Amino acid sequence: MTAPLQLAPVEIPPDGWDVVVAGAGPAGAIAALHLARRGRRVLLADRAAFPREKVCGDGLIPDALRALERAGLLDEVRRAAHPVPRVTLCSPGRIEVSLEGQFLTIKRETLDAIVAGGAVAAGAVFARAEIAGIDAGEGGVQVRVTGRETALRARLALVATGADVALPRALGMVIRRQPTGVALRGYVRSTHRIEDLLVSFDRSVLPGYAWIFPMGGGEYNVGVGAFPAEGLARVNLHTIYDAFVREFPPARALLAAAEGPAVQSGAPLRCGLDGAHALGPAGIAGVGEVVGSTYDLTGEGIGKAMETGELAAEAADAALAHGRPTMLAAYARRIEHELRPRFRGYEWAAAWMAHPRVCELVFRRASRSPWLRSMAAGILAETVDPADVFNLRGLLGSYLR
Ligand SMILES: Cc1cc2nc3c(=O)[nH]c(=O)nc-3n(C[C@H](O)[C@H](O)[C@H](O)COP(=O)(O)OP(=O)(O)OC[C@H]3O[C@@H](n4cnc5c(N)ncnc54)[C@H](O)[C@@H]3O)c2cc1C
Repeated sequence: MTAPLQLAPVEIPPDGWDVVVAGAGPAGAIAALHLARRGRRVLLADRAAFPREKVCGDGLIPDALRALERAGLLDEVRRAAHPVPRVTLCSPGRIEVSLEGQFLTIKRETLDAIVAGGAVAAGAVFARAEIAGIDAGEGGVQVRVTGRETALRARLALVATGADVALPRALGMVIRRQPTGVALRGYVRSTHRIEDLLVSFDRSVLPGYAWIFPMGGGEYNVGVGAFPAEGLARVNLHTIYDAFVREFPPARALLAAAEGPAVQSGAPLRCGLDGAHALGPAGIAGVGEVVGSTYDLTGEGIGKAMETGELAAEAADAALAHGRPTMLAAYARRIEHELRPRFRGYEWAAAWMAHPRVCELVFRRASRSPWLRSMAAGILAETVDPADVFNLRGLLGSYLR
């Protein structure tokens, strides 16, 4: 068990910090955990009082499970989560393809508290503080905290503020101001039973997708995500949501047996690694959704946010060891060389699935080809690059295998 989250207001010492991490979502908390484990003095700051809600589908797929395992938190997360051994994908024409795998669902207020608690157990100081600005200077960074007169001094800072880009924008790091997509989720209690993670490319949501994720105990996370190429100005998520729960039979059945209306909330998503530069002014780097670490195809971002946190922690530790903040650049290089090639495949696949006819064809082939189904399971587990499947050769291959 990790130590309980230290939520009592802490008097934050103004200096002596190796790293200040702004934002305690999965990206920031995992970065703080790995830095603290390396003996670094870390302040993990979040403007929200933890445990806090985060609008999400609450689904963990294998990359997130692997990151949690590397952090030593997987057992604790498993104990608090609902296990789901299968995902069922549905096409616009309602062809169903089921894939076996290891998935968990867990509310973000629980998951994020466990991960931040893990950082505290590793030695990080967790504080409720809104980071208003960061100034890079000789010998370190000055971190301005809302409502506090004196700035904090640290050697490095990591910006992990999620889809809120006010801080990275002030630092000149933001590439893309608008989010890539928006999503809405509602919690529903129902006596109708759905056992699998259900992901639907229903006509009512394309280009985008919808989900029904069982949370355990008769509760479900039902959501829709929209990723229109022409921008988000005309998107009305409530209309899309209503159309989905009216037209998609499992959603209709779930809602018909629901105990009350869904409690809905929406939030933006930043995908495709084009959100912000990973490297900011001297000694500052961005991690997680700030840099667009969420995958296009799946909207899956928890695992990837944690991976960026790990990579940044490694580079920050080396930079601290050598007294050279410029060594943070190694992190930005790994984003480009290790993560970006993987993201391209997911972008490519998302572009295919945005077209109802192509999407339908892929499902028709997957329903008949064991090879294509195993590749799809591999894409979810990240053992297969979608770019190897979503091409003409992949499609033709599905007729033979
Ligand atoms: C509707 C929806 C459904 C989703 N479903 C899934 C899913 O099922 N599975 C999945 O893997 N991903 C999902 N995602 C994506 C996932 O939620 C994100 O990728 C993930 O939360 C990104 O983690 P992060 O640490 O970068 O940012 P966040 O989790 O957003 O954390 C950022 C933190 O920064 C804090 N903060 C912001 N500004 C400041 C500041 N100035 N000072 C201090 N603190 C600050 C915030 O309070 C917050 O706690 C979904 C997203 C949405 C919107």
